[in-house]
Formats: sequence, structure tokens, C-alpha cells
Amino acid sequence: MNPWQKTPKIFLYVSTSFRAGDMATILVTGGAGFLGSHLCDRLIERGDEVICLDNFFTGRKENIEHLLGHPRFELIRHDIVEPILLEVDQIYNLACPASPKAYQYNPIKTIKTSTVGMVNVLGLAKRCRARILQASTSEVYGDPDVHPQREDYWGHVNPIGPRSCYDEGKRVAETLCMNYHIENKVDVRIIRIFNTYGPRMDPNDGRVISNFIMQALRGDPLTVFGDGRQTRSFCYCDDLIAGMMKMMDQNTEVGPVNIGNPDEFTMLELAQEILSQIDSKSTLKFEPLPGDDPKQRCPDIAKAKRILGWTPQYKLKEGLVKTIAYYRGVVEAEQRLS
Ligand code: NAD
Ligand code: UDP
Repeated sequence: MNPWQKTPKIFLYVSTSFRAGDMATILVTGGAGFLGSHLCDRLIERGDEVICLDNFFTGRKENIEHLLGHPRFELIRHDIVEPILLEVDQIYNLACPASPKAYQYNPIKTIKTSTVGMVNVLGLAKRCRARILQASTSEVYGDPDVHPQREDYWGHVNPIGPRSCYDEGKRVAETLCMNYHIENKVDVRIIRIFNTYGPRMDPNDGRVISNFIMQALRGDPLTVFGDGRQTRSFCYCDDLIAGMMKMMDQNTEVGPVNIGNPDEFTMLELAQEILSQIDSKSTLKFEPLPGDDPKQRCPDIAKAKRILGWTPQYKLKEGLVKTIAYYRGVVEAEQRLS
């Protein structure tokens, strides 16, 4: 019998031995990355035990060095493509390169991380009876022909394009999560993260906000891909982490739930805002649009509002002020060393 027919109310099934609010031992895979390191900070502040696991492909020790030596923080260098035995109450699975430049560097490794790695992390959750939150992505919607994107839209993804190692990998990861949930009663949560930015995003990782700010601070031209009229909706990292933790700590919804900021901007508007905040004389340099680059992206966050009571607090302008201050520090440190 089809298991999906056996369990029609899959979205209401919840099993956990852990109660939200208890002090927990929490595994953060990808914990030395941009979002993972902010999550580790919030969990330590809340009083949890945190195990940060990372293979340091795109993660950086400097993101978590302030936590090293903390009595409730532990760092493990490990690759989720290999199984690991640990005892934990919750798992946030963030391990996966997120920038197109990074995930296209070794596409087969990217797929392995989202498939073999996902199986390993789900297996760990099953053995420990831990709740697991999967950091999925708006990329599961591909180059969407429905706008804004709601969770019940199935997407428009090229399975053999340059972004497919990431998009299809994350789609399979969601499939694995749902099947472990239905078949093995693993307590799963899935969020779909839309473009998120902030301090600690690798200055060299090629994403648009880090590129534009670093270019503007150095006085280099801002590299606008295509005509710059494609849109994205940018969420500040603190808002994202708050939504992620609310999703983990509620008992009624498996997901997927979109987490992002619905304020939508063209890349030209983004460039102008960054240039005006930095008061930079940088010009714009138009470069070819990469293959399969989505033309528009904006989350419908009605479900997150309803289920989590969550809405983003930061306007793009406000988040950029904090982000630019971070990158200014990076550029000043570079100048001191040169
Ligand atoms: P990031 O590249 O800064 O962080 C990813 C971390 O995972 C890095 O520390 C990296 O070293 C680690 N990692 C990668 N492969 C691994 C493996 N096989 N084993 C162990 N560690 C591994 O990216 P981020 O922006 O912090 O993204 C975190 C998660 O959120 C990712 O899963 C990403 O797909 C998802 N996400 C992020 C965004 C965003 O805009 N930032 C949007 C959608 C989804
Ligand atoms: N982009 C750009 N210049 C850059 C980097 C990116 O114009 O230097 C564009 C890119 O083509 C895309 C948008 O900015 O349309 C967002 O790119 P990013 O890599 O940050 O994220 P994603 O495409 O995965 O949403």
C-alpha cells in the first residue's frame, strides 16, 4: 500500500521526547558557515549545549572562534557524507554550500551532501529520536512561473542545468525528510530559506550582496549580471535565525514553510542602495547572466505568519547598514596586512 495513503494527515504527525524550552544538546551541521555560526550564537545564548559540525568547505574558523573554549560549545571537523555517531536532542542540518560559485565548484560533491549526507543525518536523528530541521531553499522553486512563491507550488527546475546539483539535491533532501517522517516517524521540520545576508557571509563567496559591498568599498565596478532587472527578496540573518528556531520549537507543523523577506528588489535597485549607503564612486559593469538564473523570486510568507507568528523585522536598508559595517572591517583588516 502506498504509505502516503496510509498516513493522510502527514503534516500533523509529531513525535518527540524533547520539549521546547528544555536545555538540549543540539547538533548544527554546517555550523561554521554564515548562517550556522549565527545559529550557534543564538543557541549558546539560550543555554543549550551546541555541537558544531563542519567540513570547512565554505565555513570559516573565524565565524566561530569566539565560541571555542565555551563550556557548552564543541567543534567537530567532519563531513556529513560520512556517517557519525553522536547523542543529540535536536539537529539543524545546514551543511551544504549555498552560493552558486561554491556549489558549482564540485557539483557531484554538492549532490552527495544533499543526498548521502541527508540520509546520514536523518539516520542519526532516527537513532537518537532527535527532531531534525532541514535548511531547504527557495531554489526548489527553480525559475518560478508562479509569483510570489507559495509552499504548494512545485517549482520549475532544470534537472540538468548549472544550478541543478543544488536545486535537485535540495529537492531530494526534502523527499528524504518526508519519507523518513512517514516511514520511520522521524520528527522532521523543513524550512525553505530565501536569499539571506548579513555579517559573516564569506566576502569571496560570490553572492550578490557580498560582491556588491566588497566592490563598492574597494572602489571597483559592481558586476551586474544580465540587465540587472531580475529580482530577489533579501532577509537579514537575525530574522532568518529567529524564524528557523521558531520552526524547530513548535509541535504542529512539519513544513515546508517559507522563511524570507517579501520585500522584492531588482539587482539594479540593490546596487543603487549599496552605492548610496557607502557613498562610493564605483560604476556598474554589466556581465552575462549565468545559465538558469531565476528572473524573479519572492516568498509568500502567509504560512510562517500563521503557524510561527513570525515576520521579518529588518528592512533591507537597515540590514545593509550592519552588513556594510562588517565588510568595512574586513577591508580595513586587509589594508592593514598589505
Ligand atoms: P555557507 O556556505 O556559509 O554554510 C554552509 C556550511 O556547510 C559551511 O560551513 C560548509 O563548510 C558546510 N558544509 C558544506 N558541505 C558540508 C559537508 N558535506 N559536511 C559538513 N559540512 C559541510 O552557507 P549559508 O548561507 O550559511 O547556508 C547554510 C544553509 O542554508 C545551507 O544548507 C544552504 O543551502 C541554506 N540556504 C541558505 C540561503 C542563504 O541565502 N544564505 C538560502 C537558502 C538556503
Ligand atoms: N548577481 C549579480 N552580480 C554578482 C553576483 C550575483 O548581478 O556579482 C546576480 C545573480 O545573477 C542573481 C542575483 O544577483 O540574479 C542573486 O545572486 P546570488 O548568487 O546572490 O543568489 P541566487 O542567484 O542563488 O539567488
